[in-house]
Amino acid sequence: MKPRYTQIIPADGEECWCGSTFAFGACCSPFLPGSRWIGNSFQENWKQGNYEKALKSARADVTQYTIWHKSHTERIAHVGNPQLMRLWDVDVEALFDYVERLGDVYFRLGRREEFSSVLERLRENIRTKRWRDKIVHLNAIMALGEDWDEEAAYREITKLGPIASVSDKRILPFYLNLAGDKLGLAERISQIDRVLQTTEDDSTRIHQLVVKAILLHSHYDADGSLKVLEEAIKTGLEFEKPNTYERLKLAQAYSLMGSIYHDAGSIGLDASKFKEASKVNLERAAELFSNLLKDENWNHTGIADLYHQLAGVYRLLGRWELVLENEQAALRRNELPIYKVFEAEVFHELGENAKALSIIDGLSLADFADDWEKADFILHFSRLAVSSGDLARLEQAKDLLDVKLKREPIFRQQALEMMKIVLEAINVGQSASLDQKAKKASSRSLLSLLNSVLILKPNIFGVGIDVNKVIEGAAEHSATSDE
Ligand SMILES: [Zn+2]
Repeated sequence: MKPRYTQIIPADGEECWCGSTFAFGACCSPFLPGSRWIGNSFQENWKQGNYEKALKSARADVTQYTIWHKSHTERIAHVGNPQLMRLWDVDVEALFDYVERLGDVYFRLGRREEFSSVLERLRENIRTKRWRDKIVHLNAIMALGEDWDEEAAYREITKLGPIASVSDKRILPFYLNLAGDKLGLAERISQIDRVLQTTEDDSTRIHQLVVKAILLHSHYDADGSLKVLEEAIKTGLEFEKPNTYERLKLAQAYSLMGSIYHDAGSIGLDASKFKEASKVNLERAAELFSNLLKDENWNHTGIADLYHQLAGVYRLLGRWELVLENEQAALRRNELPIYKVFEAEVFHELGENAKALSIIDGLSLADFADDWEKADFILHFSRLAVSSGDLARLEQAKDLLDVKLKREPIFRQQALEMMKIVLEAINVGQSASLDQKAKKASSRSLLSLLNSVLILKPNIFGVGIDVNKVIEGAAEHSATSDE
C-alpha cells in the first residue's frame, strides 16, 4: 500500500518515538516494518529467543504505528468529524498491543526498571486521555513486578480515579482484580457485571463468572451462584483450545458447583436431592484437576496449590485416602500451614487422632496468610477440640471463635454454630452426638479454597505457571489485561 499523503516522521536527530531516548536515525529509522510486516519480525525473534533483536523490532513497531497515527488519524481528527474519533480509539488499542509487547521484551531482558521511564516518554504518542489511561494501566502491570505486589499496582491504577469512572474494557477487569475486597459486595458485583457486558476475552469472562459465583455463594445466594456457574461452565466448554488458565477455571467452576450441591443441607435445602449432582460435578472437577497436574509448566507453589485443590474435591467426595495422598503431595512442595490444617482433618477422619492433634496443636492463628485461611483453621481446630473433649483446647477454641475476622457472612454463620457446640462441650462435657455436630459444622467447602479463586496471585491466576511462559502467552494474545 503506497501512502497517498505526506508521512509525518521524526527528523533523524529527533528523539525516537519508541521511547528509547536514542535519535530516530540511529534507532528505529532503518527498521520500520511498513504495513505488510508490522509485528512479524518481533514474533520471529521472540519465538527464537533473540530478545535483543526482538527489542529492536518491538521498538520499530511502536514507532511505525505512531507514525501512522500522526500521519492519518491525528490529521483527520482536525477536520472535526466526531465519527472519525473512533479511529483514535482503534489506534489506542493497536498501539497498546505493540507497547505491551515492548514491555514483555524489557521484562524478559531483565530491564523492567527501564521500561517505566520508556512509558513516560510514550505518554504523548497519542494525544488523548484514553491513551494516557493506557500508560497508567501498563505502569500498574509493571508495578505488580515479579513479586506480584498488588498493593503497589493498586496504588498505580487508582490514578485513573474510582473504578466506576473507568470504561476501558481491558483496564476495567484488571482494576477490578486489584480492587477486589476493597469494594463492597454490591459494588463489586455491579463492576463484575460491567466487565461481563463489555469484555471480549473469554478467559476474563470465565474468571469473573466464577468470582461472582463465589461472592453470591458466600452471601447465601446459592441459586444465583448456581446459575452463574452454569454460565461459567458453558463458557469453559466452548473454548476450542483452552490454555492452562482456562482449564483451571473450568475445573474450579465444576468444583464450586459440586461443593454448593454438597453443602445444600446446610442452607436449608433437601441435601438428598442434590447428592447425585454434587457427585457428578465433583468427579468432573477431580478429572480436570488431575489432567492439569500433567501439564509441564507449573512451578512448585503452583503445583502444590493444584494438589491442594484436588484434595479439596476428594474431601467433599469423602475419599479420605486420596485427600491424604494429595494434601501430602502439596505439603512436599510447599509447607503451608493451611495444608497442615487439612492434613490434620484427614488423620482425624482416618482414626489417627493423636497425629491429628499433634499437627493442629503445632499451629497458631498468626501462621495463616489471610482471614479465609484463619477461618478454616479456627473451624477445624474447634472441631478437633470438641472431639478431644480436652478442656484447655475447648477454651482455646472458644477464644479463637471470638476472634474478629473480616468475615464473609458464610463464615460468621459457621463460627456461631461451632461456638454453640464448643460451649456445650465445655458446660455439659463431650459426647458422641456433639462430636457428630462438630463434624457436620466443619464439613462444608473450605473457605480458603474459595478465596484462592478470588484473588489475584501469580500462583493462582497463572497457577504458578512458569512466569516466563505467562509472559510468552501474554505476548501472543495480549491477555495481560486480566492478569
Ligand atoms: Zn526507536
